[in-house]
Amino acid sequence: MNGKKRRRWSERTRMLLTLQLAVVLPAAALIVASILNLRDIQRGRGVEATIQRDFMHVLKITEKTFNERAFKTVAKMREKIPCPAEPVSATMDALLEKYPMVAHAFYYCPASGLVVRSQPRRMGDIEFRHAAERFASDIRWVKTEGKGMLEKFFKMEQEGGDPFYFYNMISKREGRLNYESLVVSTLPACGKEQGVLAGVVLDSDFLKEAFFPAVLDSILEKQGEQGSNPAGMMIHIKKDSTPLATSADWDGGEPEVEKAFEPGSAFPGLVLGIKFRGTTIEAMSNRFLLNSFLIIGGLSIFLAFGVWLTYRNVSREMALARLKADFVANVSHELRTPLALIRLYAETLEMGRLTNPDKPQEYYRIIREESERLSALINNILDFSRIEAGRKEYDFHETNLAELVRSTLEAYRYQIEQNGFAFESRIADDVPPVRVDREAIARSLLNLVNNAVKYSSNDKFLGVNLYRANGSVKLEVVDHGIGIPSAEQNKIFEKFYRVGDPLVHNTKGSGLGLSLVRHIVQAHGGNVSVESTPGKGSKFTIALPIAASA
Ligand code: ADP
Repeated sequence: MNGKKRRRWSERTRMLLTLQLAVVLPAAALIVASILNLRDIQRGRGVEATIQRDFMHVLKITEKTFNERAFKTVAKMREKIPCPAEPVSATMDALLEKYPMVAHAFYYCPASGLVVRSQPRRMGDIEFRHAAERFASDIRWVKTEGKGMLEKFFKMEQEGGDPFYFYNMISKREGRLNYESLVVSTLPACGKEQGVLAGVVLDSDFLKEAFFPAVLDSILEKQGEQGSNPAGMMIHIKKDSTPLATSADWDGGEPEVEKAFEPGSAFPGLVLGIKFRGTTIEAMSNRFLLNSFLIIGGLSIFLAFGVWLTYRNVSREMALARLKADFVANVSHELRTPLALIRLYAETLEMGRLTNPDKPQEYYRIIREESERLSALINNILDFSRIEAGRKEYDFHETNLAELVRSTLEAYRYQIEQNGFAFESRIADDVPPVRVDREAIARSLLNLVNNAVKYSSNDKFLGVNLYRANGSVKLEVVDHGIGIPSAEQNKIFEKFYRVGDPLVHNTKGSGLGLSLVRHIVQAHGGNVSVESTPGKGSKFTIALPIAASA
């Protein structure tokens, strides 16, 4: 017994170990690693950093696009001015006429002097006229610094760069900062020795209302095509965070990532800003982390469930294997005992030395009873194997159940009463005929009666009742025997199952009887149930539907 126990225990341990090593450990390691990884990302704000890097990348591309477009426009304008530009004012006026985006323009030649013109279209505006005057006076610095600048531009050109430079012109207008851009350039048509410099001021309204929004929108459109989250962009003066211009779908608020234009770029003094529309980087990061944690949590639950399911199934299989082993031992025992008895009494009779005239009679009875027990057992096993193989067939006939129960019990009445049982049967008169397989139902009844007899100790009572109730016929087998603990009451109908009580183990049995009863009754469309109190007795009830038989 001890050795057996140890082996069973080690089987279980082995299974648990295998499960743990093969499934649980790697999976748990994976889950823990993922959680640690996510925690690291959370702590190091990794998701935010990635998004910020992406945003910075977009801003760099934007700055580059701004530069390219501005440089291209200026390059085109330069080409339009001939050298020497005589008469200069006419050339300038033509330029202003062609490019409404130019607010003011100047032309400086050391020989002929400085000419400044402003956009004639806007000269009606007094503010603009003031601005024009201011520009005309401010730009005079070119006379003193022009030479040095020229040197620098030609050097830049030699080095493969563009010979012009953008200056920001930030002024206050109506209480707010105003941004204009002054581009100073050499002219392609003029040589270095002529010392000519020209320049234009890109109009602030043109920049704000047309140029900046167009570039921002074109960049966002491209980004949108790449399937990223919707973002908005804006551009503002470094010292003033109010947007100078925004992309069409900018929804207000502070930009999350900013980038100032580099010195030497088209718009020094301006800052580009970007943010998500309707959400923040932090919210996105939190959502990402939450989703990841939820996924890992869900996976862990699935895994735990899977392990539990596997464990349960394997445990069941192991339990069944154990029951089967017990079954073989039980059946061998059950076959051997009646055979031994039959042989013993047959031999005694054969010798013919019995003096007591009642003895032979008793021996014949024992031989008959034991062979009946053997047949019942073998029938059970045969039935069971047919059922297991799915080959069990039933032969249904309209049957008078009262008569069937009476005749089945009659054959055993004597034997039961001989065993000291008080036997009581109550068979109602109004039981309608039911379509059943006679032999199968009789065998079910006998299995129940046999159990009642087997599992009774002191209070030897057997009751069989047959009556009609609520559309079914009920057949009850009642005993006052050892009873069945409620935790076992479901299991006893499983194949091979026997209650682990020592009282039961001392009694012969295969663990097949009740599983057969249940199968047979279910094949009739009915069910079998048990009510039992340990130490007080049990009542098994077979309910067969009348309707199905009508
Ligand atoms: P067995 O051959 O062991 O009797 P069964 O399938 O007929 O197999 O019964 C299964 C188990 O149910 C029995 O081993 C016993 O523990 C329990 N049992 C069945 N009938 C009774 C009863 N009338 N009283 C107490 N226990 C019972």
